[in-house]
Amino acid sequence: MKLARYGPPGQERPAVVQGEQLIDVSAFGQDFGPDFFANNGPARLATWLAANPQAAQPVSLVSAVRLGPPVKNPGKLICIGLNYVDHARETGAKIPAEPIIFFKATSAIVGPNDDLVIPKNSQKTDWEVELAVVIGQKASYVTEADALNHVAGYMLHNDYSEREFQLERGGQWVKGKSCDTFAPLGPFLATPNELADVQQLPMWLTVNGQTKQNGNTSNMIFGVKFLVSYLSQFMSLHPGDIISTGTPAGVGLGFNPPQYLHPGDVVELGIEGLGRSRQVAKAWAG
Ligand code: ZN
Repeated sequence: MKLARYGPPGQERPAVVQGEQLIDVSAFGQDFGPDFFANNGPARLATWLAANPQAAQPVSLVSAVRLGPPVKNPGKLICIGLNYVDHARETGAKIPAEPIIFFKATSAIVGPNDDLVIPKNSQKTDWEVELAVVIGQKASYVTEADALNHVAGYMLHNDYSEREFQLERGGQWVKGKSCDTFAPLGPFLATPNELADVQQLPMWLTVNGQTKQNGNTSNMIFGVKFLVSYLSQFMSLHPGDIISTGTPAGVGLGFNPPQYLHPGDVVELGIEGLGRSRQVAKAWAG
């Protein structure tokens, strides 16, 4: 099942994606927030749809509407740093012995095709195509073998990053990761059964039509199972929480000289099975 949310910002309605069509499932009575995922929401929704075929009428082409983030009000957005060897190398960093963890403010979350706002005083706004994991059942001290039982699904994420704020302003990476619009999620959440193997997914990103990133989730240093188990040793992962699993090589920082985004630039990205998204960069305007 592919879960999406559509409509104006803050007024999105829950929907299911079938092919190119969107099916409104507002009548199910529950949006795709933590409560939905806590209680095996995707399975309950599938059962409801099967029992209410009259509700399963397409309302629109997916391409004809504004999409919101597929998860409503997630409790936390945790990111993994330097989780691909080629990306760690291009940044000049050491290959991490354990996952590097940082947080991204949930206020950065926007829809998949919303504009990217280049922050006030930013010179170094950069891109990162990533696989994001959504937690279903609460996870605390879970084993690697059990970890995927706690995953509700997967999404495409662009982990936008301001490199000066991240690396040259002291403290943690969170400053460079949390600006408004820095976390476009979607177009949809795919439940695990939609993907043959989450560790074998081609991923790509272009800027103005030029390929910058061309990777595969098979090249993660720490895979999804390991990351869910690992994180759950330090904090409880709650339904709806999101884990973004790091980016492959080809970010702007890695070029010589570095390449950063300017107003008018068009960023497009995708992961096989998880759709594609597109953001147009805009200058901050208050
Ligand atoms: Zn990242």
